[in-house]
Amino acid sequence: MTTYVWDYLPEYESERADLLDAVDTVFSSGRLVLGKSVRGFEEEFAAYHGVAHCVGVDNGTNAVKLGLQALGVGPGDEVITVSNTAAPTVLAIDGTGATPVFVDVREEDFLMDTARLEAAVTPRTKAILPVHLYGQCVDMAAVEAVAARHGLRVLEDCAQAHGARHHGRPAGALSDAAAFSFYPTKVLGAYGDGGAVLTADEETERRLRRLRYYGMEERYYVVGTPGHNSRLDEVQAEILRRKLTRLDAYVAGRRAVAARYEEGLGDLAELVLPRTGAGNEHVYYVYVVRHPRRDAVLEALKPHGIHLNISYPWPVHTMTGFRHLGVPAGSLPVTERLAGEIFSLPMYPSLPRDVQDRTIEALREVLASV
Ligand SMILES: *Cc1c(COP(=O)(O)O)cnc(C)c1O
Repeated sequence: MTTYVWDYLPEYESERADLLDAVDTVFSSGRLVLGKSVRGFEEEFAAYHGVAHCVGVDNGTNAVKLGLQALGVGPGDEVITVSNTAAPTVLAIDGTGATPVFVDVREEDFLMDTARLEAAVTPRTKAILPVHLYGQCVDMAAVEAVAARHGLRVLEDCAQAHGARHHGRPAGALSDAAAFSFYPTKVLGAYGDGGAVLTADEETERRLRRLRYYGMEERYYVVGTPGHNSRLDEVQAEILRRKLTRLDAYVAGRRAVAARYEEGLGDLAELVLPRTGAGNEHVYYVYVVRHPRRDAVLEALKPHGIHLNISYPWPVHTMTGFRHLGVPAGSLPVTERLAGEIFSLPMYPSLPRDVQDRTIEALREVLASV
């Protein structure tokens, strides 16, 4: 039997009746696009976070892009973010016509090193885009302080942080707007693509509704600057409504898996397990560990049938697709070092216990010899 870091089929088996009923609800409703399910999900997702507004969009990349555009980011602006993230974070900035500017991450939690923000601000800086990577939040008080000092907007990339909390407040309620992805692997995942943007500001919400709907406020008449077709699909929205009621249970399941890893692997000297930062409640979107001989460890696990993932093997600024940014290799030393040492253990709430036990055993055996 082969073990992978993620599998939705155990979840589908247990939630099948509800999910198929969600599909039938939409198909029977007489309205297939921007109907009751999208509106209902938007209200329920906003309420879950205690934020006034939610606008459903087609995926997380466009949630970041439209979120930035709604906050006024466009060509000529700079947006400060990290290179240790999913490439879409940076693609979304690029997509607005703005320039991504990177700060390095911290050794202890692999998140934005907020002590470096101030030095990255220029007269062109318009926004800061902290990424709540792997399932825990960036130090938002520090981000907010720099933003306030320089009059910058802040958009949280919450694609990996559904259900996470920071000093008691939900991720997504900590800045001007927050972008979520519901890609199937995410902590709250659809059965296909989806995304959403949260904001407390009514004008930002209006812009978002326009931006996702061709730039229209009414049918057939474009008023907004370059709009998109970025609607959240009605079927995915209904599935997400059902799954939102189980989000806290999914998070609890992930924490239980993380606790078992700590118990089974916590004593291994060279293996660094995830550390939860002060004030954070981690949701473990991915369970990222670190080892100085990572590649040898992954190779040695393969004969055991265990194929692990790396999130992420290449820092964004080193990819040829981002060469135009002109950020030289070597300029983000912590990010670049981490990319060679991190890997992810299987993590999803329905992860079978025996699969996890097998992973722990194999890893203990392999680490004794690499
Ligand atoms: C998944 C992800 C995205 C992009 O979401 P999609 O729905 O795949 O477009 C953006 N940022 C981060 C940090 C992600 O993990």
